[in-house]
Amino acid sequence: MTPSRATPAPAPTQRRTVRVKAPGKINVSFSVGPLRDDGYHSVASVYLAVSLYEEIAATTAPAGEITVSLRAGSLGQNLPLDESNLAVRAARLMADVSEQATGVHLEITKRVPISGGMGGGSADAAATLLACDALWNSGLSREELTHLAAELGADVPFALLGGAAVGLGVGDELTPALAPNPLHWALVFADFGLSTPTVFTALDRLRVARGKEPKEPEQIDPAILRALRAGDAQSLAGVLHNDLQPAATKLAPQLAEMLEQGTEFGALASIVSGSGPTVALLASSEEHAAELAERLSLSGRSALAVHSPVHGAKIVSDLIH
Ligand code: ATP
Repeated sequence: MTPSRATPAPAPTQRRTVRVKAPGKINVSFSVGPLRDDGYHSVASVYLAVSLYEEIAATTAPAGEITVSLRAGSLGQNLPLDESNLAVRAARLMADVSEQATGVHLEITKRVPISGGMGGGSADAAATLLACDALWNSGLSREELTHLAAELGADVPFALLGGAAVGLGVGDELTPALAPNPLHWALVFADFGLSTPTVFTALDRLRVARGKEPKEPEQIDPAILRALRAGDAQSLAGVLHNDLQPAATKLAPQLAEMLEQGTEFGALASIVSGSGPTVALLASSEEHAAELAERLSLSGRSALAVHSPVHGAKIVSDLIH
């Protein structure tokens, strides 16, 4: 059935399920400024949405009930399924602004590793906003949805937008970037997570120890935007940048080995994604990315070939049953 805002309300015995997919992200550039008085850091980042998707199935439920479950077999079996879950928080926020809000049950299909530096929780939040917007005919503009997204977390607006974008502020002030040609990557997953705030704190400590005062990150290296616009993986390889990488590697020294292994196996470049610990290996083609992922898997790593950029949160089905 074609997704539509005009879908009629289900009869009392019927339920409606809206399914939405939203992508994980990597950052091809991440500059972090000094710690601000509000406890956040200002950043200048370039996000790329990658073809590894979270999926939310939102089904109408009795008024006032907001519940969440994980699809059997998906990642994240230890994920909190209470009020702290980002999908639940997103549904509550949407219910507050939707006149026709019912209850909702959210089923998460998790493919992006938890605390992996790829914004999986943010993708769940963005997908839930869009699913509940459709389910409750909220009629919010994209701008209003983006505003709600920013209340939920710095990476949530990008999971709504997708594609490629520059993120300023805490990462939530987005400007789409041109990236018309696909880039191919092999993602290497760790068997542990890293907490984003802990990695930022480790960076602050490293900077104090080195006596380095960070500057406000106001600008993105134009070479990054040029390489994205040209779809030029070779050029991009030379300018990938992540201020958080030394801090993540200090907290998890095994990251150094993962990064080195990528280049040993022939990646054009290796970078820690966001606050880590997922590592993104840049490949020269789709075949190269598949080959890298296969070699890494054979060596005992968990790895997957993906491409970028891909769409942001998108309705994939809308059914009354
Ligand atoms: P980012 O790169 O955006 O900082 P991340 O990808 O490293 O985040 P996430 O998996 O998005 O990490 O979020 C990690 C934290 O959020 C964990 O503490 C986890 O318990 C909590 N969390 C709450 N809801 C979710 C959810 N739906 N999916 C993943 N994590 C969630």
